[in-house]
Amino acid sequence: MMKHSTGMTKRNLLKLAGSSLLLSACGKQTDKVAGIQNVTKIEYGDECRLCGMLISNFPGPKGQLFERGYDQNMKFCSTRDMFAYWLDPEHSHNIQSAFVHDMAVTPWDLADGDRYINARTAIYVVGHNRRGALGPTLASFSDEAAARVFSDQFGGRLHLFDQLNLALVSSMMS
Ligand code: ZN
Repeated sequence: MMKHSTGMTKRNLLKLAGSSLLLSACGKQTDKVAGIQNVTKIEYGDECRLCGMLISNFPGPKGQLFERGYDQNMKFCSTRDMFAYWLDPEHSHNIQSAFVHDMAVTPWDLADGDRYINARTAIYVVGHNRRGALGPTLASFSDEAAARVFSDQFGGRLHLFDQLNLALVSSMMS
């Protein structure tokens, strides 16, 4: 008759080693050096600076900007909300750098990637029929030809940054 010796098994405990090696060698200090302001990835839980809505999982181009006096970049659910904030006279003179998705290389329905461009030199399509996070929004492109392809398909007119104003953006929010 054989005896079953189940209780005698020794277990080797796996030790998770090395977590202390993940030292923060890469500095957050660099964020504060002038001239290298840049976007950060849209993370789950990030909220739109203007409307407070969670940003991730919404369609359409997103925007990020740096305002004088704030260490962190501000993120927005849509280019529309970013410009509503930026073009507000309370903020407009303090915006240092701003970035928008390049929709020539970013899928509209899953626009949370890292293909951003300088918002001041982008081409915008306004009045098209694609919906952003909260309805109408500005479609942003680095390239005029790509913007024209978009407007041919979805309508709207091309605008340079200098042609945007608060009244135009506000008209998209009603
Ligand atoms: Zn928003």
